[in-house]
Amino acid sequence: MRIGFGFDAHKQTTKRRLMLGGVRIPSKLGLAGHSDADVLLHALTDALLGALALPDIGSLFPDTEAGWKDAPSRLMLAAAYAKVRSGGYGLVNADCVLVCDRPKLAPHSLAIRESIAALLGVRPDQVGLQAKTTEGTQLATKRSMAAMVVALLVRRRQVRGSHFGARASALP
Ligand code: MG
Repeated sequence: MRIGFGFDAHKQTTKRRLMLGGVRIPSKLGLAGHSDADVLLHALTDALLGALALPDIGSLFPDTEAGWKDAPSRLMLAAAYAKVRSGGYGLVNADCVLVCDRPKLAPHSLAIRESIAALLGVRPDQVGLQAKTTEGTQLATKRSMAAMVVALLVRRRQVRGSHFGARASALP
């Protein structure tokens, strides 16, 4: 098994729409960034890449490249997960934390989990999501949103069926 951890943060702005986990979230506050600034997919992408000690999202998809301007971050996630798959691994589960005071994200939690699961071809119960506020502390005053994701990968032949069963003893 391999474990990866990803972190990202973006400034909030009224000039951009808000995309989280590939879902358009209705809000006056969007996120600034070169791509569509989907902070959650960026952290997830880095978690997947980091699990295999691959170069991070900024190395693979530089924000100096015009081709990634306003690009949907699901394309970066798909490219990263293709690397995971071609490396012989699949996702066991990912647990995600979103941190912001506004907007309230809990009502969108299921839609975001289902979106991420669909993007990766896994079940929604393999994607956890916690939406946390900072109780009006630093992140709120600086108008930003942060995401952290931990992702567990397993060699692909163990992904289907019970990887907690007898075959788990065959893991490297
Ligand atoms: Mg980012």
